Amino acid sequence: MSTLRFQALKEIAGRKPVEVEELDRKSTIFGSNVFNDKSMRQFLTPEAYKAVRNAVQHGKKIDRKLADYISMGMKEWALSKGVTHYTHWFQPLTGTTAEKHDAFFETMPDGSEPVEKFGGSQLVQQEPDASSFPNGGIRNTFEARGYTAWDPTSPAFIFGTTLCIPTVFVSYTGEALDYKTPLLRALASIDEAATDVCRYFDKNVKKVTATLGWEQEYFLIDVALANSRPDITLTGRTLLGHTSAKGQQLDDHYFGSIPTRALNYMRDLENECMLLGIPVKTRHNEVAPNQFELAPIFEEANLAVDHNSLIMDVMQKVAERHYFKVLLHEKPFKGVNGSGKHNNWSLATDTGINLLGPGKTPMSNLQFLTFFINTIKAVHTNEELMRAGIATASNDHRLGANEAPPAIISVFIGEQLTRVLEGLENVSSGKLSPQEKTDLKLNVVGKIPDVLLDNTDRNRTSPFAFTGNKFEFRAVGSTANCANAMTIVNAIVAKQLKDFKKEVDALIADKGMKKDDAIFNVLREYIKETKAILFEGDGYSEEWEVEAAKRGLSNHKTTPTALKAKVSKKTLDLFEELNIMNHIEMEARYEIELEEYAKKIQIEGRVLGDIARNHVVPTAIRYQNILIENVKGLKEIFGKDHETVGRQQIALIKEISEHIAGINIKVEAMTEERKKANELETADEMAVAYCDKVKPYFDTIRNHCDKLELLVDDEIWTLTKYRELLFTK
Ligand code: ADP
Ligand code: MG
Repeated sequence: MSTLRFQALKEIAGRKPVEVEELDRKSTIFGSNVFNDKSMRQFLTPEAYKAVRNAVQHGKKIDRKLADYISMGMKEWALSKGVTHYTHWFQPLTGTTAEKHDAFFETMPDGSEPVEKFGGSQLVQQEPDASSFPNGGIRNTFEARGYTAWDPTSPAFIFGTTLCIPTVFVSYTGEALDYKTPLLRALASIDEAATDVCRYFDKNVKKVTATLGWEQEYFLIDVALANSRPDITLTGRTLLGHTSAKGQQLDDHYFGSIPTRALNYMRDLENECMLLGIPVKTRHNEVAPNQFELAPIFEEANLAVDHNSLIMDVMQKVAERHYFKVLLHEKPFKGVNGSGKHNNWSLATDTGINLLGPGKTPMSNLQFLTFFINTIKAVHTNEELMRAGIATASNDHRLGANEAPPAIISVFIGEQLTRVLEGLENVSSGKLSPQEKTDLKLNVVGKIPDVLLDNTDRNRTSPFAFTGNKFEFRAVGSTANCANAMTIVNAIVAKQLKDFKKEVDALIADKGMKKDDAIFNVLREYIKETKAILFEGDGYSEEWEVEAAKRGLSNHKTTPTALKAKVSKKTLDLFEELNIMNHIEMEARYEIELEEYAKKIQIEGRVLGDIARNHVVPTAIRYQNILIENVKGLKEIFGKDHETVGRQQIALIKEISEHIAGINIKVEAMTEERKKANELETADEMAVAYCDKVKPYFDTIRNHCDKLELLVDDEIWTLTKYRELLFTK
């Protein structure tokens, strides 16, 4: 057999786990390829060091002169580690990271000795020729200049022999062209808004940091098998393939013993992460066969986002050494679970308090409830925007399909906190009597157990669940840049906290209320107003869809409809008010995402058409010819009786013909729809056409192909099968 499938199967038969050298203890090597505090102290002058610390801790600008000193120190550090090149490392709206390497090496103009050079200006700013990054019309090609600017809050790191400097990417007129810029602005907003609210409770709080702990799910597939499938190579997922007889129904993969090849891969990856200062901690098998998960200790959100973007790249690179391909796609295989990226989010003060962690005293619990209820309120007000923030062609296979979590955004808080909110809802209006206050403190606020963490039931079907000391945004897609979701969560909560502060201050100033009374009064109203967003039941059930519609919650099952909330007046006002993005930037992003959606479906349509016609149909015909020969032979032997003797074969020949016809007709019809879609004027119309007119053909074409897979002789089937992709360890 000469097909790729059989070559691949032969190749993997001899695969052995790749040995991994155990590095020093994790704690000793952690961050050794990062220009972290320790290396900064060693390589920077005290002034330069202080400037970086001030930038990180207080957002202070770094003086241009000091940047020269910082770059010198950074260069010395990098050279001492064998680095030859440097790059600004950024996150354009393509969804991957971008880099353009420049050598430190330079010759002098006067022809004297060549030197290693890296000055302040190279550290602070670079001008990649950025005209081919998505910009949604912000820069027309005549003025295609964009520039990258150093983000000192995320430390430079070395990967391979390159010094990578995390940067933002903006147009010459200042509009954000990346994921990081709006995230940094949203983080500044939440810092300001949350700090103000914290000061009701503790005047010592000067800064609030958003924290993020992501959990990354992924599939590991042998590289030879993955490469034998054009759909995996070109779209990251299988567009056809009959489900394997055994899938995940026995639940024998989840938390099972990790296969040696995969374990060695993980150890190798963890070593790289340690060097890069990514604090990975957890690894385990996920539900689907060959599906795994990786999670770090949580970090400041901007750093955590960078680390997640970086790790998605590193995962792929390390996989090459182990003859694996990492599939980060949300739904690589039909019939088994897809992958997500849970975003665990919380807020921490510079005094060391987790604002979403219940405290020990009634007062600290009132602070907890304030942040807890304001978050719920923010989600309630902006549920459509949250849905929009996780909308992509690939995530549509999870949200809105028969899989976790639903396209309806709701909040799960667990039984205990539900009871606490019920208690607060009955607080009387206006001033609270001393009796009521004592009662509240003792019986409602005081009763929030600090062991909540262990008691929270884990509702796995909720898209946004409170899990004891943080909210877990579970609907984020596994390929997503977390910045998108994190910008939205932090922005909506920032806005909500600002509004809350205004309301409380007004009650204090106008009604002469005491601070606590005012807070209780505002929270009570919020609890009443936001009930619709709280849901404790099964998020996958049909009853919930009906119930959610009654409650007025949105249920956008596809990206083109979901994305609209990104450019609603409410959203544009919110982002402009907080100075996160202006309407030009928001509209540009909306357009880019619609275009990306249409292109993804377009590519999938082309690949599916190609595989169906050029792999499946010819193979089916070959097998059909074998059957025809067989029937002819039967006729020779049995004469007229061959119709009885060969009944099954004849039926099969017909069945194959029907599927072949089905494929040809549907592929042609799909191609026609693609042509029509391509002629549409706006990105919006095009995305809708791809969604409603082109995509529906995928299932029908696939069905015919998958039926043929069951009929055709396994020996001649050219496409690697699900059981091979999923069960080769
Ligand atoms: P699981 O949700 O799988 O049961 P955990 O609750 O232990 O696991 O934690 C999951 C993720 O939540 C981890 O990545 C962890 O770092 C993160 N996490 C824990 N506390 C916080 C916090 N205060 N802020 C943000 N992320 C957190
Ligand atoms: Mg979790």
